[in-house]
Amino acid sequence: MTRVHVLYTGGTFGMTGRPLRPMELAELERALPKAGKLVSGVEVVLERFERLIDSSSITPAYWVNIARHIERNYEAFDGFVIIHGTDTLAYTASALAFMLEDLRKPVVITGSMLPLLEEGTDAIDNYRLALMVAGHRALGLPAIPEVCVAFAGRVLRGCRSRKMGGRERPFDSPHYPPLAKLQGETLRLFPERLLPMPEPGATLRVQDRLDTDVLDITLYPGLRPETLRAMLALPQARGVVLRAYGAGNAPEDEAFLAALEEAMRERGRAVLVVSQTPYGKVALGHYAASSGLLRAGVISGADMTPEAAITKLMTVMAQAGDDTARIKELMQQNLRGEMGGHLAGRGFYPRPERFFGL
Ligand code: ASP
Repeated sequence: MTRVHVLYTGGTFGMTGRPLRPMELAELERALPKAGKLVSGVEVVLERFERLIDSSSITPAYWVNIARHIERNYEAFDGFVIIHGTDTLAYTASALAFMLEDLRKPVVITGSMLPLLEEGTDAIDNYRLALMVAGHRALGLPAIPEVCVAFAGRVLRGCRSRKMGGRERPFDSPHYPPLAKLQGETLRLFPERLLPMPEPGATLRVQDRLDTDVLDITLYPGLRPETLRAMLALPQARGVVLRAYGAGNAPEDEAFLAALEEAMRERGRAVLVVSQTPYGKVALGHYAASSGLLRAGVISGADMTPEAAITKLMTVMAQAGDDTARIKELMQQNLRGEMGGHLAGRGFYPRPERFFGL
């Protein structure tokens, strides 16, 4: 038997009532089909989170608990499934990807758009897909040594995933093709897209420190330089993710750029620029409108999702402390396949479908 550990954290998947709230574990266990019926050869141990939540209440402290939970059960299971609400699922997937080092076993996060007990639910299909990935041995497939998201027939890299909403593709991975997908009843894996297995002898390490002094600022027409300056002066803004326009563009305004430049020079702030466009990719200096940011000394987030940028900054800042140069260096490294890769250098608006015929 292939053993899979399932952690139920809450989310629409297990919700009932009006307004919707998570049902208890015993109720969920009764409502869920037996694992062996969904994927033959898979045995499940189901546990619940200490507090069942709507994922909009998740905090970094919960991520630490999930990571420790995986660490405690790591040796006894072939893979892990986390049932999670969809609202912050991409943040949790990204955070765990950075927190779990030298992972050899799949950690699969899933959820659903409709509750398990509602007609037309996607909960069982998503759960079954997650069990297939986590219980890979039962299917004769290699392990995906990554934190991934199983949703609507596709398996996405966790730190590349984003919630898009809607029925068709509630989750997507705008800059990286799926790691696996369902074709009929068969799970098709794309081995060339997976992260490599850790070196022989390397064992799981959990980075359980996160520095949450990260501020996420979205540019919008009308954001005043003095507002930006005030935000950057907050003690809680040691690290900043700046969601700029398109290819990383920002107003060509002296006062605006001076606010950023001063925050970096005088306060040692680390400022990482990502694109607010789902398919956009930062290319500083491509337009005159991003040359100022480049000169001011911001870090390019390239094609990182905002979710990955925020959680990567939290883990990197915890490691590097006050050493801004080290933060910059680590932020520019591809740590978990969160940036660059397959689509690097293919232009600014790549749609994976176009390149991979998906
Ligand atoms: N509010 C829910 C949650 O994130 C939404 C969902 O699960 O789809 O927990």
